[in-house]
Amino acid sequence: MKEKNSVQDEAMMKLALKMALQAERAGEVPVGAVIVDEKGKILALAHNEPISSCDPTAHAEIVAIRKAARRVGNYRLTGCSLYVTLEPCVMCYGAVIHARIKRLVYGANDPKAGAFSSAIDLTKPLYFNHYVEVKGGVLAEKASEMVRAFFRGKRRGTEVVVTGSTRNRLVR
Ligand SMILES: [Zn+2]
Repeated sequence: MKEKNSVQDEAMMKLALKMALQAERAGEVPVGAVIVDEKGKILALAHNEPISSCDPTAHAEIVAIRKAARRVGNYRLTGCSLYVTLEPCVMCYGAVIHARIKRLVYGANDPKAGAFSSAIDLTKPLYFNHYVEVKGGVLAEKASEMVRAFFRGKRRGTEVVVTGSTRNRLVR
């Protein structure tokens, strides 16, 4: 039997993947995030939106942290867990630390910009005085395939998502 954490981790990651799909539909890199409190109550759902919001910091994690903090009326999200489909970048990991998030669970590795599996490893306690429990690789294949498909589509200059109207045209 799976441990309680793993069951919740997969359920929350599925939700995060749904948010990633929303990002993709909006033409953004498909990354989604969810924040839950210590009881498992969902505080925020968010997706990557830097292009549509003209905000280079609008990564899924940052958007989720802002929403959750506003919701609880506190700049600290002590005891909360953040789920994100792609390994966080340095900026987002910094925000996780500032928010005092307890657990960070991510899906696919990001070898280019990831703060843990790339050339740097920010989990070393040397840098910060707040310890975050980090777990990677939850439903990683689905998350990385989504990102790969998105960039394949970009390179070809085609739409990745077949929208309702496109589908109708194809049928006709
Ligand atoms: Zn980021």
